[in-house]
Amino acid sequence: MWSYADSRAAVRDALRLSRAMTLKAAVANLTLGGGKGVIVAPSDGHLSSKRRQGALLDFADAVQSLEGRYITAEDVGTSSRDMSVIAQRTAHVAGLARRRGGSGDPSPFTALGVVAAIHAACERAFSDRSLQDRSISVLGLGHVGSRVARLLAGAGARLQIADIDERKQPLAAQLGARWITPAQALLGDVDVLVPCALGGFLDDVTVPGLRCRVVAGAANNQLADDRIAELLSARGVLWAPDFVVNAGGLINIAQEAGGYDPRAARRQVNAIADTMREIFGQADADRTTPLSAAMKLARRRLGAAA
Ligand code: NAD
Repeated sequence: MWSYADSRAAVRDALRLSRAMTLKAAVANLTLGGGKGVIVAPSDGHLSSKRRQGALLDFADAVQSLEGRYITAEDVGTSSRDMSVIAQRTAHVAGLARRRGGSGDPSPFTALGVVAAIHAACERAFSDRSLQDRSISVLGLGHVGSRVARLLAGAGARLQIADIDERKQPLAAQLGARWITPAQALLGDVDVLVPCALGGFLDDVTVPGLRCRVVAGAANNQLADDRIAELLSARGVLWAPDFVVNAGGLINIAQEAGGYDPRAARRQVNAIADTMREIFGQADADRTTPLSAAMKLARRRLGAAA
């Protein structure tokens, strides 16, 4: 649920996000395709609780009309409580609260996968998977970013954190992190940049200014377009493809189909590190970018499924 300039922008976003879901599910080896729904919020972002409820129920009717070909779940701008509202009109909703038989908030699993990917990226970039004393900037301290930051602090990283929401500052302090501006996070001289806000921020203007060695984070659609992957490689920045890094939430939710087992989900999410290694290795072997290697893997799996 997000505010868009107009409905064309919302459709464009849904298409970009659904493409990423297709790639994410394929690379994670899940027997799912890819789809995404967007709900257009008012331009000032404010919805009364009654209108919010109405919008969610309308959305639920749209999901129900697809008769299970699309399963919806929580993402930016929605909560597991919203999923319970949607469940009043359709059974095709995942990520309901645990007490309602669902797998709950996907964010902790997304965060776990992000940290697994950061370990793999550090192993590739610094020949050392340890995060002890690694300088790391986290951009966006929301559902996923806050959990990633906590795990990184626990692993001994030297953390810097930025969020447009100043109310997140006390949490950053609690984690022993330095509070910086989003621009400082993006362009700072650190080992790893972990983007956990919105996408589209890696482009022809920002990439030449990057001073980090690795970018690996949860944000969807980080590249303004696919061509930017080559720009990142030319600049010596190891970019871990977002749809590989942030698959943990989807992997966890996909577990609901066979009877939810959080331990099995954790194991599968941690295996994102193995997938990441395979992709970096393939990129080296093919003298190409991690994005091309990840797309190649996705296409192979989609071809096999077709
Ligand atoms: P969220 O809305 O809980 O958190 C986003 C945070 O980023 C907020 O604290 C917000 O204030 C901050 N932010 C927004 N714009 C910013 C900017 N320009 N600079 C700095 N901070 C900014 O969202 P989330 O669920 O944590 O998801 C974060 C990203 O990860 C999104 O791109 C989302 O699509 C992606 N993702 C999330 C999940 C999940 O399980 N929640 C799974 C896969 C991918």
